[in-house]
Amino acid sequence: MKLYNLKNPNEIVNFSQAVKLGLGKKQGLFFPIELPKISKEKIKKILKMDFIKRSSKILEFFIGDEIPKKELKKRVKLAFNFFPTKIIQVSKNINCLELFHGPTLAFKDFGARFMAQMISYLNKENEHITILTATSGDTGAAVSHAFYKMKNVRVIILYPKGKISKFQEKLFCTLGDNIKTIAINGSFDDCQFLVKKAFNDRELKKKTNLNSANSINISRLLAQICYYFEALAILPKKNRKNLVISVPCGNFGNLTAGLLAKSLGLPIKRFIAATNANDTVPRFLTNGEWKPNKTISTISNAMDISQPNNWPRVEELFKRKKWNLKKLGFGSVSDKITKKNLKKLNKLGYTSEPHATIAYKLLKDQIKNKEFGLFLGTAHPAKFKQTVDNILKKDIILPNALLKRSNLPLLSYNMLPNFNKLREFLLEK
Ligand SMILES: *Cc1c(COP(=O)(O)O)cnc(C)c1O
Repeated sequence: MKLYNLKNPNEIVNFSQAVKLGLGKKQGLFFPIELPKISKEKIKKILKMDFIKRSSKILEFFIGDEIPKKELKKRVKLAFNFFPTKIIQVSKNINCLELFHGPTLAFKDFGARFMAQMISYLNKENEHITILTATSGDTGAAVSHAFYKMKNVRVIILYPKGKISKFQEKLFCTLGDNIKTIAINGSFDDCQFLVKKAFNDRELKKKTNLNSANSINISRLLAQICYYFEALAILPKKNRKNLVISVPCGNFGNLTAGLLAKSLGLPIKRFIAATNANDTVPRFLTNGEWKPNKTISTISNAMDISQPNNWPRVEELFKRKKWNLKKLGFGSVSDKITKKNLKKLNKLGYTSEPHATIAYKLLKDQIKNKEFGLFLGTAHPAKFKQTVDNILKKDIILPNALLKRSNLPLLSYNMLPNFNKLREFLLEK
């Protein structure tokens, strides 16, 4: 697999290099030179396979012969060692695709676990490597658990202090061992900025063998394509037509993966990009101006991002496929409307959480006659227990994965959003 840097198309790398580098020069994202396409017949065949076999095939289409087939399948099996997804009907033509049955109860388990397998496979010399990543909540947990106790790997996670939910924090800041967590006194964008800066620091990068684990890493993106195929595979045939998928967006990795699935030939009619009040993309799609505002804290905190990293990939894909960006559905939902719709869903008999609810609300507004709608359930409601309990006046039950960690002490360091401080930490701890 060959990829080019979106900011510097002359920089061409293969899959292994893209996984190791994360970002290219000038912090450019890597994008596949070839966009594979699967015939209709083959798609039908693929949809009949089991999840592991199918996922290995899909990844093989992109990765090619860079990783032996057998090895790839083994790694896919290790990564996706949990129940992938189910579809829950909430009203006549609206359904939730629940992607939160993995070990850290969010869809990020798919990408993070596959990436961890790729990094461990590619680290053939058994070098000491540092995974540095910023999280708006769920990435931290998924990445930490995916690398927990992995040999020769040190994981450092930055997150905005006080801006992630209590249980999100408990899930990964209580692990210890090779996992170090830093609470940054700032926003998620501040964290992301620090990470970018670290990757631009050549000396630091070399000394610590830095590797990113954000949704910018190509291995995470490719892994996420697999659950879109699984969704179609478990849908009754009659519902596979006129399929509309509404995606709650923060960094836009999830949406990019969905669009890549469509570009492979998966029959998805259209997508809706759903954001909270951090509405840089909806405003851009309305007036063509890219004007990120200051990040606002909302109850869907994993989407509190005003400079979404993956957006250039979305644009590139539309350009390469000659799709019309005007056909991408979009919208932004305030906390007030989110709360109202969370209650609405509850009345319909479905307990959700703020992120998925935003996707639900826009799907409900924008779905047309004869269309079949899926909104993505990106996290388990218990991860946002305080918020959800408060709005629904409920006491939702904690799943085991959370219960186990809820009384353990937090092990995080505190830091101001200051690059020199982070640099010191990376070199000393
Ligand atoms: C990360 C996350 C999102 C946003 O996904 P992106 O791929 O960054 O757009 C949405 N919901 C939840 C619960 C998340 O953790």
